[in-house]
Amino acid sequence: MQFNSLANPGVQKLTPYQPGKPIEELQRELGLKEIVKLASNENPLGPSPLALKAISGCFGELARYPDGNAFRLKHALAEKLAVDPVQITLGNGSNDILEFVPKVFANVSSEIVISQYAFAVYALATLAVGAKPVVVPAKNYAHDLQAMAAAFTPATRVVFIANPNNPTGTWINEQALVEFMEKTPPDVVVVLDEAYCEYVRKEDYPNGLDYLQRFPNLIVTRTFSKVWGLAGLRIGYAICHPDIADLMNRVRQPFNVNLLAQEAALAVLQDEVHLEKSILLNHSGIQQLTQGFAKLGLSWIPSLGNFVSFEAGRDASEIYHSLLAKGVIVRPLANYEMPEYLRVSVGLEQENTKFLSALNEILQVKGTIKS
Ligand SMILES: *Cc1c(COP(=O)(O)O)cnc(C)c1O
Repeated sequence: MQFNSLANPGVQKLTPYQPGKPIEELQRELGLKEIVKLASNENPLGPSPLALKAISGCFGELARYPDGNAFRLKHALAEKLAVDPVQITLGNGSNDILEFVPKVFANVSSEIVISQYAFAVYALATLAVGAKPVVVPAKNYAHDLQAMAAAFTPATRVVFIANPNNPTGTWINEQALVEFMEKTPPDVVVVLDEAYCEYVRKEDYPNGLDYLQRFPNLIVTRTFSKVWGLAGLRIGYAICHPDIADLMNRVRQPFNVNLLAQEAALAVLQDEVHLEKSILLNHSGIQQLTQGFAKLGLSWIPSLGNFVSFEAGRDASEIYHSLLAKGVIVRPLANYEMPEYLRVSVGLEQENTKFLSALNEILQVKGTIKS
């Protein structure tokens, strides 16, 4: 039986998401002990210690289903973000939410507009419901919102925008977002993915929440996986119009966010000190990495996230493997049509140093650097 031919056409076209290489896997392959993973934009400090305390406090409840409506977490988030709890939808990671939107609004006759180089999950979520991804060429690696608006057709149902985008780190400013929203028909749902927003300290960077009243077709998504350090627990959320939240709640699993994730998320929200520390570490890490690239004569794409993509040249894949051999995991970007680039996440200072000196050694051997 050729099962592939039985699959939904969208699924036939789908290639699975390629995650960063797990530390354990490289340990198995190379027998290396000391491995630095800078491949999945995780917080190198881990979560606030309050998370660990909260988790150990709920071991007695593991046999029970979690609260499917996450009453306490939704209320805590609502208060923090100055929104109503009915505007919040929780997901098993914000990835879950990114899948709810096409599931709710799109079908085989729909188009979903995304940017070239945008976060890979958008195309996957589109294809999974049989809809057509309309990929709009980027401008200097960034979303070209004018071109994206020009790509709308009567079949357009959803647009995905990452701000800042992963893997490029590029961003859009307030004015560009507002102009885009003004051009977007009210029956096209705009997903504004703010997975890295907490890191951003920039005057003209828009806070998506400020536009929910004015544009009811806007869905803002955020996550506990990045600056909050809870990637392993899988929890993210959307803030949007209550009617859209109601629709998303219909398609989610009843218990999509587990007990430990709910309790840990509640706890980390209390720790502003850890948050600030994480943000500061990221800013100095970005500087350390980009100064390192400058020294090595490499160019990079300026990033507002907790990662930087740099141009490793034609041998990027070889450099990726040489870094692995030295116990450093970064992210190749060939599946993003950026075969000459590698993406590195900001680590602890000593991790960044290990990465930069491994990269330096590799480039020396290749003779790319004239010293
Ligand atoms: C990491 C990331 C996410 C979130 O992933 P989850 O762990 O599922 O919350 C969403 N969007 C972008 C652009 C990301 O880089």
